Amino acid sequence: MARHIESVCKFCRREGLKLFLKGDRCYTDKCAFERRSYAPGQHGQRRSKATEYLLQLREKQKVKRIYGVMERQFRGGFKKAEKMKGITGENLLSYLERRLDNVVYRLGFADSRREARQLVMHGHFTVKGKTVNIPSYILKTDEAVQLKERSRKSAKINESLAAVERRGVPQWLELDKANYKGVAKALPKRDDIGIQVQEQLIVELYSK
Ligand code: SF4
Repeated sequence: MARHIESVCKFCRREGLKLFLKGDRCYTDKCAFERRSYAPGQHGQRRSKATEYLLQLREKQKVKRIYGVMERQFRGGFKKAEKMKGITGENLLSYLERRLDNVVYRLGFADSRREARQLVMHGHFTVKGKTVNIPSYILKTDEAVQLKERSRKSAKINESLAAVERRGVPQWLELDKANYKGVAKALPKRDDIGIQVQEQLIVELYSK
């Protein structure tokens, strides 16, 4: 799987927004965006003209980076969102939100989506009682995600879980901490997702 190897903090600086890609560090004064909130690179502090295309592109990049997906997967998600009932932009976010790596992150088993993706790929979780090691697996309503028995002693996972209140578990998910389990009570609505993005601009970009 293709992955970004450069520092992810550059993405926050490029988008002019904290994207919370590094777990704990994002909440400390070590956060690169807190120190340098301008774009990276030699011309980072210059203001570039915000054309319509540029605004649309930046919104797309922002969402891709938040969820850690590459262009092909993102476009695939967009095509699915277009076929769903309702507003395409909201459908797209709802679809990405249901990715298994994101669910593991949202439930608090990991400090970042990147870390959650690793946990999923290493087979630490079951969905409906069966091992699922595909981060892009899309969770359906009433499906339960559970940490395997053998993984419950992990200090890192327990630390993350203990700190889940800091972010809070979104309304569409229900966490049963004692049993290391989470259930999708409903499909995520736009208000549940809470990321600062104008998804309509992404729809406009792909509609050209
Ligand atoms: Fe972004 Fe987190 Fe890096 Fe801060 S520490 S710039 S929020 S990834």
